[in-house]
Amino acid sequence: MPIRIGIIGAGSAVFSMRVVGDLIRTKELSGSEVVLMDIDEERLQAVEILANRLIDEFGSDLKFRKTASLEDAVKDSDFVINTALVGGHEYLEKVRVIGEKYGYYRGIDAQEFNMVSDYYTISNFNQLSYFVEVAKMISKLSPHAWLIQAANPVFEGTNLITRIMPDVKVVGFCHGHRGVFDIAKRLGLDISKLDWQVAGFNHAIWLNRFIYNGKDAYHMIEDLRDEHWKPQNPFDDQLSPMAFEMLDFYKMMPIGDTVRNSSWRYHRSFSEKLKWYGWPWGGADSEVGWQWYKEILKSIVNIVESLASFAKSSRDRIFTRENLEKFARGSDFPEEMFDEFFAIVEGKSGEQHIPFIKAITTGKAERLIVNVKNEGAIREIPNDVVVEIPAIVDDKGIHREKIDPPLNERVKKLYLYPRMMRMEMAVRAFLERDMSYIFEMLHRDPRTRSDGQVETVINEIVNLPENKKMREHYDMK
Ligand code: NAD
Repeated sequence: MPIRIGIIGAGSAVFSMRVVGDLIRTKELSGSEVVLMDIDEERLQAVEILANRLIDEFGSDLKFRKTASLEDAVKDSDFVINTALVGGHEYLEKVRVIGEKYGYYRGIDAQEFNMVSDYYTISNFNQLSYFVEVAKMISKLSPHAWLIQAANPVFEGTNLITRIMPDVKVVGFCHGHRGVFDIAKRLGLDISKLDWQVAGFNHAIWLNRFIYNGKDAYHMIEDLRDEHWKPQNPFDDQLSPMAFEMLDFYKMMPIGDTVRNSSWRYHRSFSEKLKWYGWPWGGADSEVGWQWYKEILKSIVNIVESLASFAKSSRDRIFTRENLEKFARGSDFPEEMFDEFFAIVEGKSGEQHIPFIKAITTGKAERLIVNVKNEGAIREIPNDVVVEIPAIVDDKGIHREKIDPPLNERVKKLYLYPRMMRMEMAVRAFLERDMSYIFEMLHRDPRTRSDGQVETVINEIVNLPENKKMREHYDMK
């Protein structure tokens, strides 16, 4: 069924080719128009060229076009995917460097239960403000549209949007729940016979159900403890000592990015991270692991740009495995990640954005892990807080599954409550234009030694030229 999709931040290293690859393979969306929007003309053009080339090579009657106008991408759309990172990774690094200068290892936004290196909740005013701008524009120009929130912070972002614009239909997505498949694979289980659930918040989800062939299989996870465990890459932490340490304390298995979001004790220093997340990276969020990731992102942008310029000069088929390998090698993309890269172009990205659009559009039900308002799904979490839970999606909308068995008390009270409190502070700061919440977050940070340290670090960040709007919003001179 032809629809219109707007993709904001379409030059995104992580998402663009995944979403485009998935779209091309989704025959049910034949005839649809996809408007690619980005402020980076070069990246945008490369993605548009490759999207059109994929159409030629794999046969599809989707129509892709690019625009630099947010309004153009949003107007009359049925779905708007927001994957933009305002200020890019450069801004995140700039702020991290300032934080480290004043004693905040990995930056002020690395906070307990939120240690993920591009999940800024304190210093990312421009990103949060853009989320709101996109939502407001949807409400004005295409009020029936779904807003699919892919850009981080998904937890703070979806909560902010639902509070400011309650009429906008927003859903957040993440691929962290795929950690369940890693566990199943390592246990040699057939995923089609697995009955599983995860629940919590974005980057804070826990395995509450793990039944195989009708029998509880949770105890089998114990067999995966391995004192000689070694990660394959910085993100490979689902079976790390950290994951089992969390299992021991919380009595439930943390899934996906949740393992990154452990408490202060495991993130005090690089040597501490190495111990829990494995040698040689110390997990994705250490200085070494994150550098690895940034290089991968740079390689992906290079591959996309080189492939696009090759596509302009050659009529040969470019999406062959041989050709992709050549470009991946030429851009120093790590060989052990090749299969993952090819899967993207083959339309098997594992992302949920396009399956969601397909389910809503065609009515063919899909089970997805969604970020939506709780509305009773997780007991003892307020109804209006956004949770990450399984749901059946069809043309009538999102139908939350009953979380059964429920999350245990330790997970709810010792992990979700404090994480929810941090979200509350970040969202309230924005809504009430009140910087004192941000100061308070830092005063509660165990790395803080004095009031002066908090004042200085915040002043330096707020006074960056790119934070002019932040200064105005908070009425700071
Ligand atoms: P990136 O910098 O490579 O891409 C972001 C894109 O946004 C760039 O092309 C940039 O030009 C564009 N952009 C910046 N400002 C814009 C604006 N005002 N309007 C339109 N476009 C704009 O970043 P990335 O590494 O691809 O990450 C993108 C986002 O996705 C981040 O927030 C990241 O944390 C998030 N992410 C989410 C998940 C998930 O599963 N939900 C996984 C990985 C990354």
